[in-house]
Amino acid sequence: MRSYSLIAPAKINLYLEIIGDRPDGYHELAMIMQTISLADQIDIHAASTDYIRVYCDHPQVPTDKTNLVYRAAALMAEQFPDAYSQFGGVDITVKKRIPVAAGLAGGSTNAAAVLVGINLLWNLGLTQPELEELGATLGSDVPFCIGGGTAIATGRGEKLAPLPGLENINLVLGKYRSLEVSTPWAYKTYRQEFGSSYIRDSDGFASRAHAVHSGEIVKAISHQDTVAIASKLHNDLEKVVLPAYPQVVELRELFAQQPGVLASMMSGSGPSVFAIVESPEQAEVVKQQIRTAIPNPDLELFVTKTIAHGINLAA
Ligand code: ATP
Repeated sequence: MRSYSLIAPAKINLYLEIIGDRPDGYHELAMIMQTISLADQIDIHAASTDYIRVYCDHPQVPTDKTNLVYRAAALMAEQFPDAYSQFGGVDITVKKRIPVAAGLAGGSTNAAAVLVGINLLWNLGLTQPELEELGATLGSDVPFCIGGGTAIATGRGEKLAPLPGLENINLVLGKYRSLEVSTPWAYKTYRQEFGSSYIRDSDGFASRAHAVHSGEIVKAISHQDTVAIASKLHNDLEKVVLPAYPQVVELRELFAQQPGVLASMMSGSGPSVFAIVESPEQAEVVKQQIRTAIPNPDLELFVTKTIAHGINLAA
């Protein structure tokens, strides 16, 4: 085949706990990652040139060497120089639907799709663990985005253990187009504000005295109990992002007040907010209600749901 179209779904965090900081400068995390049906499409074509070109229909996404899609393709070219010289360059088109800089791993899932797509295009035969290992060099969320579903991520987010897949949990998701939260800013601010309460051990690891613990939500996930999952959502980054973004607080509270909403929370480093809703019909009603309450066109709203897989070939 000379081209592949891949569906690259976004993720939300059902749980994000900052356990402490690490000597390497990253935070020690416990996160429950969940793939959702909101997705970008990535088209990868073998080019007649010998270089990598990226196109994207979203004005906020760069198409130069800083795009994670470019970096993923360049990594494959560097790792597999024989295949690169045999098959030549690639043209990659990103059709963006996932809001940018939203805490939804948009760039990471695009990079994951490129790794999967070039593996097919160049007949490399790499296994999922091999692709995940390559993905980890591009970003902590990339390995999860390849296989997707439901997983608990520890370490700096790159150590993955699968959980029973959650399918068809109904969600409404909102994001102000003009609000962007930098993930490094959110973690840095968290460290500045809460780092002093850490207890440091002799290896340089520091941790909070009162960790929240992910055990209860993991149990709720293994029982596929949506109501219990909704009652155990947790995100430590809300402590720094919400005070800085009153619009996000307003949206989160509005979601929580709607009939049929079990819980609402910010995803990852925000500023997107999601609500868990009892049924798909209610999700449509919640979306309409929020649109009426906040007619501002800057607010993007999506009805979506949890899915149990990551990167897929487009039908
Ligand atoms: P995460 O949840 O992994 O922290 P995010 O959803 O907060 O990610 P992204 O949508 O990945 O954030 O965008 C973060 C930044 O990366 C943006 O400022 C954007 O310009 C840049 N970027 C680079 N490549 C891409 C891409 N393929 N898609 C989206 N953004 C990209």
